[in-house]
Amino acid sequence: MNRSTDTTSRTRSAGTPADQASVRRSNLALVLRHVSDHGPCARSTVAVETGLNKTTVTSLVSELQARGLVKEAGPQYAGSVGRPGLALVLDGSRVGALGVEVNVDYIAAFVTDLAGRVLIDRRIGFDAMGSGPERSLDELTRAVERAMADLDRLGVVLAGITVAVPGLIDTTTGTVVFAPNLGWHEVAVAERLSRAGIPRTVPIAVDNEANLAALAEYTSGVAAGTSDMVYLTGEVGVGGGVISGGRLLNGADGFAGEVGHMVVDPEGDRCGCGRIGCWETKVGLAALVRMATPDHAYGTSQHVLRDPEERLADIEQRRADGDPRVDAAVTEVGRWLGRGSALLVNLFNPRVIVLGGYFARLADRLIPVAQAEMERLGMAAATQRCRFVPSDLGFGAASRGAAGVVIERVLTDPTTIAITQP
Ligand SMILES: [Zn+2]
Repeated sequence: MNRSTDTTSRTRSAGTPADQASVRRSNLALVLRHVSDHGPCARSTVAVETGLNKTTVTSLVSELQARGLVKEAGPQYAGSVGRPGLALVLDGSRVGALGVEVNVDYIAAFVTDLAGRVLIDRRIGFDAMGSGPERSLDELTRAVERAMADLDRLGVVLAGITVAVPGLIDTTTGTVVFAPNLGWHEVAVAERLSRAGIPRTVPIAVDNEANLAALAEYTSGVAAGTSDMVYLTGEVGVGGGVISGGRLLNGADGFAGEVGHMVVDPEGDRCGCGRIGCWETKVGLAALVRMATPDHAYGTSQHVLRDPEERLADIEQRRADGDPRVDAAVTEVGRWLGRGSALLVNLFNPRVIVLGGYFARLADRLIPVAQAEMERLGMAAATQRCRFVPSDLGFGAASRGAAGVVIERVLTDPTTIAITQP
């Protein structure tokens, strides 16, 4: 594949140094991605399959080794004749990708190395909704600094940071335009983090939490590789990430998938966004808590439980104690989940709807109700072939997807990782 890359390298090699650097960078990326997708593989195989010549591949591999991105794993026989070559595999054990998520009631941090080994996976309960942007950004900064200190001890270099936020994001500036459930307007998250002692060489990006979680589901979740899927975050807010034809649907401004603010009940309750009767006022975690455990509702003086897992444990305990409000609340959420999903199925014709966050925890009771309601209200041909599937990534899906975006950036431009080995 991609024989044209080598042609480009030869025809443009007499160009300016900037041209040559650019060609070298794209060829490094071509080889690194090949090893990532197809390794272990010998240099000769990489040459045949990328269309680059063998000398070029040898030189590119040496540079990728010097950057700590690939390593030799053992002999690999390339066909029946000739000497075996040493097989190449992805290394990257010294390269860390940090994804952090700030959500209504927690902050999560997730780090993998380039090969996908998990180095950090933690979440702390934090009342971001009640704390305001300044204190939330302080807490987010502390979470980033703690992760960086951990990576320092492990001898891992941070390749980048992506921050997941539930809201509309200007990804070009790393600014949260509007996050209704956090109460944030025009909050310059990337700029703020860049002032917090993070080296200038570490790129900082900000993106929508549901879209990042959908990417994590598409690459490593229960329905990985399903080219038409919708991922729903089950948090206080409900966001959606739509994978259509194997690609994340972004929309003209990157704001696609704001499914939580589809108005489904104009006579209903006021939403954090200011409108009346948005879908998330029916199915968000705050709606479930309000119906199942009204004394612990968000925004009340008894708002003592912070982490969503604590709230779910509280709800399960009351159910075990025989409180009838819990089952009634879960059934009501399941119905509304099905009603909104019928709209999504008519719009996007997904094969699966992956239920994230708290939806996954209550999946055995939510899904039968939601599936029946979706099939009752959606176009039959599409709804009958679409299934709800609980995510197994828990509340960590968005931070995992955020780390994945950093990995993707390294695979696209390996020169972002400095040469550290002779
Ligand atoms: Zn709304």
